[in-house]
Amino acid sequence: MNELFTTPDSIVAYAQVAPEQGVDVTASGLTYGIPEALKDLTVGDRVLVPLGRGNKTVPGFVVQIDQSTSLPASKLKAISEKDPAGIHLPADLIELARWLSGYYCCPIGMVFGTMLPAAVKHGIGATVQTLVYRNPDKDLKTVKLSKLQKAALAELEKCEAVGKPQIEMRQLAELAGAKSISPVKQLITKGVLKSNTQSIIKAPPGSTGNASPAEKSAKLLLNDTQQKAVTQLASKVDDGGFGVHLLHGVTGSGKTEVYLQMIEHVFASRPDSCAIVLVPEIALTPQTVSRFTARFDSVAVMHSALTSAQRHEQWRRIAAGEAKIVIGARSAIFAPLPQVGIIIVDEEHDSSYKQDQLPRYHARDVAVKRGQQLGAQVVLGSATPSLESYFNATVRGSYDLLHLPDRVSGFQLPHVQLVDLIEERKHRRGVHLISRKLEELIGYVKRQGGQTMLLLNRRGYANYVACPDHTCGWMQTCEHCDATMVYHKHPSAMSGGYIRCHHCDTEQLLPPLCPQCGKKITLFGLGTQRVEEEIERKFPELRFARMDSDTMRQRDDYQRILGQFQKGELDLLIGTQMIAKGLDFPNVRLVGVISGDTSLHMPDFRAAERTFQIIAQVAGRAGRSSTPGIVVVQTFSIDDPTIKLASKHDFITFAQRELEMRKQMGLPPHTRMARVVVRDVDHEKSYLLCKKLAMELARCNQQLGNVVRLRGPMPCPIARIADFHRHQIEMVAPDAGTLQKLMTMLRNDRLLISDNRMAVDVDPTVLL
Ligand code: ADP
Ligand code: ZN
Ligand code: ZN
Repeated sequence: MNELFTTPDSIVAYAQVAPEQGVDVTASGLTYGIPEALKDLTVGDRVLVPLGRGNKTVPGFVVQIDQSTSLPASKLKAISEKDPAGIHLPADLIELARWLSGYYCCPIGMVFGTMLPAAVKHGIGATVQTLVYRNPDKDLKTVKLSKLQKAALAELEKCEAVGKPQIEMRQLAELAGAKSISPVKQLITKGVLKSNTQSIIKAPPGSTGNASPAEKSAKLLLNDTQQKAVTQLASKVDDGGFGVHLLHGVTGSGKTEVYLQMIEHVFASRPDSCAIVLVPEIALTPQTVSRFTARFDSVAVMHSALTSAQRHEQWRRIAAGEAKIVIGARSAIFAPLPQVGIIIVDEEHDSSYKQDQLPRYHARDVAVKRGQQLGAQVVLGSATPSLESYFNATVRGSYDLLHLPDRVSGFQLPHVQLVDLIEERKHRRGVHLISRKLEELIGYVKRQGGQTMLLLNRRGYANYVACPDHTCGWMQTCEHCDATMVYHKHPSAMSGGYIRCHHCDTEQLLPPLCPQCGKKITLFGLGTQRVEEEIERKFPELRFARMDSDTMRQRDDYQRILGQFQKGELDLLIGTQMIAKGLDFPNVRLVGVISGDTSLHMPDFRAAERTFQIIAQVAGRAGRSSTPGIVVVQTFSIDDPTIKLASKHDFITFAQRELEMRKQMGLPPHTRMARVVVRDVDHEKSYLLCKKLAMELARCNQQLGNVVRLRGPMPCPIARIADFHRHQIEMVAPDAGTLQKLMTMLRNDRLLISDNRMAVDVDPTVLL
């Protein structure tokens, strides 16, 4: 008999274990026997288990412990051992993982794969430490000891005398004056000492990413609206229990100070509690972080610039209860803090909170769930709340609404001027991405000693490479995708640049002539590089930098350039939405939006919402001092209501209007959506699989009384990416519960699986 199949009497209980590798186990995991030696196992322990026919040893988490099982003894395998690194997740995260697995249609093991940073999973930076201590059963009279061994024993006695019965092996050898650890090892061999190994993580000192606890900043005296927000939250904390609060505060209204004082209140009333603060990755600047470290002790920061070893160390610190506050991007919502009392989600509307691969979770929604499970307070803050959150705070009334309508005293919201690009074109020939108005203001602000930010949400130089002859109509598309290619200038390339597909990253040289008719090709459209070129030409004196994911290649590029800008070494920054978030530079007088329309005409029902957000957010970077700021928004759609309302900073009217339109069309947040994308290199196969799924969905939907609106099979808006043909089905249900019911029916029949061919996206934010 295979030794893995232990006899039932050596098994003391049964565990549901979720292996981290992507097998599609349901939320309850796989059943294993717990051998006598592991009888102290608890939910949340990481263990090693034999998996599959080959009984490969894989790591997994204990999600449940039972006293009995219906599984026949012949099929029962036993847990091999506890994870030697001793990794454990608090029980509330296990609960949360079960929820994520169910809600987002993802194998639970993959959820754990995401919860646990890769550095922790693979033990990066971990070293094994051997501690030694005296064997009380060994009579010293029976052994002969060398001089060094005696010295070591004497040193250990000194440690014992000060209450430290265990000491690291190498350290003991050093104290005894030995050149190597062999005297200590011999003491172990002779049975005088016993040893105990444990794994510790050592990251290079002073580089954990924790800002130095510099000078502590004092509380600011809150203004009336800020005070009201803090008081309202405080009353919820004192009542006990769970609550979600939407802090709708215009840019510069002092939301951060409100967060800080809310956290202080929670810590004061529940001294054991901890806080999680989520910010968009890009906003995780020293600027943001220092506002927290300057107020609180023991802040742990999780950001992408940490090395793996540092990340591992941070995680261990957090799990050991050594941090009071964790600040981080999306995945920090899974910080293994022991007692979370408050969760803050700053810029809650930000699209980076949604993960675009399995599990396709939204950190804001997970925050609300975690808060609910723990009876904690959740604060969602934004100048431009997502319509989902705004709907919950107004129409549904399930969230508290806290409103900060004005900037902190002395600062005003900037004046926004719209420039009509259709009109502009009539006055100047040639390509001008910068209008006369904007040009004039850039010069003016420079002369006044102020700084400028220019936003264009498009990388590269030009987004169309085409034949100028309309009768020919040739346009450069990607060989592997149904998409046009973008021209990037590059001095080292032979023809001065290359063209790249932004979907699959294929690159090729720019064709000099139209392959169909031989005419010289033209570049249409805009990109940050083209703006850069125009700035160079029009303002040769200006000191400027471009910030987009093409220039920000190194880990510290972003912070270095922001540092230069902060110190006034740069007059102007050109960037994609990278520059639109959370930055607070008092000397920025002018913000220019090169094209207010880039996201307006996207085939996505959130196009208007995104357009409003990006204009309002970038406009919010101007005028953060007593000198008022100016914002220029250039647009081909001067009469578009979204652009108009954004220019007036009128979120409330925009939200009401947009919510009404969504209601009429039956779109989220009034309803709930899920999307399944099926892909295959073979077009026919992709279509047929999608069609089969659609038929099954329709069948199950019938059992639910056809309350879910189903659309598909149909090609995705981008019908082919990286040689995969893509078909989709959209489901729109009256509420989340109904949607879950429908998907569970299919999931139980193993028809709906998240794998390489099928992507299930619940509450999708990108519909391409
Ligand atoms: P938001 O996050 O809402 O855009 P910030 O938190 O960045 O706003 O605040 C803008 C500026 O106002 C910051 O420099 C901050 O220190 C300052 N501030 C916030 N609250 C107060 C207050 N009550 N009194 C004085 N200054 C404040
Ligand atoms: Zn491509
Ligand atoms: Zn042509």
